[in-house]
Amino acid sequence: MLLTKAEIEARTITEDGQVFLQKAAQDGLETVWDRYQAQKPQCGFCELGLSCRNCSMGPCRIDPFGEGPQRGVCGADADIIVARNLGRMIAAGAASHSDHGRDLVEVLRKVGEGHAPGYTIRSEEKLKKVAAEFGIAADGKTPADLAVELAHAMEEEFGTRKKALTFLGRVPEKRRAIWDKLGITPRGIDRETSEMMHRTHMGVDNDWQSLLLHGLRNALSDGWGGSFIATEVSDILFGIPQPVPSEVNLGVLKENQVNIVLHGHNPIVSEMIYEAAQDPELLALASEKGAEGINLAGLCCTGNELLMRRGIPMAGNHLMTELALSTGLVDMMIVDYQCIMPALGEIATCYHTLMISTSDKAKFPHMAHHEFHPETAQSKARELVRMAVENYERRLPAKVLPAPNTPTRMMAGFSVEAILGALGGSPAPLIEAIKSGAVQGAVGVVGCNNPKIRQDFGHVTLTRHLIENDILVVDTGCAAVAHAKAGLKVPEAAALAGPGLQQVCKSLGIPPVLHMGSCVDNVRILDLAAALANALGTDISDLPLAAAAPEWYSEKAVSIACYAVASGIFTVLGTPPPIFGSPKIVKLLTEDIEGLLGASFAVEPDPEKAAARIEQHIRQKRKALGL
Ligand code: SF4
Ligand code: SF4
Repeated sequence: MLLTKAEIEARTITEDGQVFLQKAAQDGLETVWDRYQAQKPQCGFCELGLSCRNCSMGPCRIDPFGEGPQRGVCGADADIIVARNLGRMIAAGAASHSDHGRDLVEVLRKVGEGHAPGYTIRSEEKLKKVAAEFGIAADGKTPADLAVELAHAMEEEFGTRKKALTFLGRVPEKRRAIWDKLGITPRGIDRETSEMMHRTHMGVDNDWQSLLLHGLRNALSDGWGGSFIATEVSDILFGIPQPVPSEVNLGVLKENQVNIVLHGHNPIVSEMIYEAAQDPELLALASEKGAEGINLAGLCCTGNELLMRRGIPMAGNHLMTELALSTGLVDMMIVDYQCIMPALGEIATCYHTLMISTSDKAKFPHMAHHEFHPETAQSKARELVRMAVENYERRLPAKVLPAPNTPTRMMAGFSVEAILGALGGSPAPLIEAIKSGAVQGAVGVVGCNNPKIRQDFGHVTLTRHLIENDILVVDTGCAAVAHAKAGLKVPEAAALAGPGLQQVCKSLGIPPVLHMGSCVDNVRILDLAAALANALGTDISDLPLAAAAPEWYSEKAVSIACYAVASGIFTVLGTPPPIFGSPKIVKLLTEDIEGLLGASFAVEPDPEKAAARIEQHIRQKRKALGL
């Protein structure tokens, strides 16, 4: 059934999204927005965090109005149930990032052992730096030897009980002292996740405060552990991102080229596809089939990884993944893991698109499974690109609709190294700009899309307000793609910033919104914040910084928000987390935690109000610093 203009505009602010929502409806597709409508009203107990199915005496639920049951069969009350549910969300998010990191460590080791043809060490500089942090001397060792030693040392971080994770060496001393005092210093990556699953089993930890404290430790094991390893090893294997121009929106899919779309999170597969797409033999085959080339485009964070290092254009963010298929132009979609809607395979059956899954831990209905292993990734990538090229001539002309809008230009690649490079090698100029008030502060606007919120509206509205008020925005994930689509990631967007930020951006030739990467790359923001605090001899929580996730949906976002707050960064969430069934937990996380960590959470669905709260927070931090 066709959608009305009002229905379409209520779903997304994006021009391409509006066109392809109608195209999808014409083609009879059911999208994420349709399925969300069909689920309404969603379960109020679950929304409040008051339902539990942790054992088979249940499922149980607590009546939020006080008229029905106030305890589950085991006796757990609202506070215990909410804390346990939140703990399990953190554990799932931390496990996802950290397992992604472990897969990269495996490739690093195999590269060193000579068992991963096609992969190489692209940044010996970072290999040596990180090896030194792990206490491994580089003297006289080949990069291959160093890679093996570092991989083994990193593998130890996952399972072994340690006093503290290695990357905590970058954390300001004041922050480390806070964690030690609270007993939340993360000891081992898998250890904290495993302990969370244990604590939330029936009859283990039934103190809601103790559960929440372990939740923070579990999240820190992600932020300063699993995700940190993922980002650093990706840089070692695939290169440290540097500023690179690119384009974004569904217009990047080319009518006259073979389009291969890469979706998911881990660059291990997509980097090999990138190499294979340059193969002269496959390019010649594409030409034989009548195509003018092989065009790669990204979705979600696999797209962000390729964008940051290779400038590969982005087709879109999370809510565009189904709509990308409805162009009829995708000859192959290759997925790895995370945020890949199980509906995608069935949607693709309406078109000629070949859907390919690549990880043994992420299989999907209506997708052909082609497993990637480091040993055979190079030949597998060539096989898949060949299949995509051969599929080009099977397009269904009646189903094809190229995007009517031209792609929006953007700039990505702002790793910490690139930002410090643009500043002349040290954070001093940024600190001076903050001290002078030209830049009032910095905010990480990160996270997903969620059909509960008009697509991209939360991100773009919040960010426009912040930059207008001289607040530098750094971003990652699907938020970064939203900002790029809105034209905020080109140097000319400095004209939209306040006078101080505008001046800084113009003098450095950078946009007011800096793309720092994928979801695991939120640790680049942590790393930059820690570098600023260390340069000033202070704590992260003293700086005029904040974070926001206006449209988050994922358990990974819960872990990210928790490690941001635990690291001392005030964090505003746009969609309410399932904690409102426990007024005590809401009070702790939004008020009392400030006294423990120097940072707290806020929940504010209205992005204009969220901007006002963040601006007020930044003013307070500046005042406390005497600025
Ligand atoms: S753990 Fe307790 S509250 Fe949860 S399902 Fe079992 S009995 Fe019910
Ligand atoms: S930002 Fe959220 S939706 Fe987007 S790729 Fe990351 S976790 Fe998935």
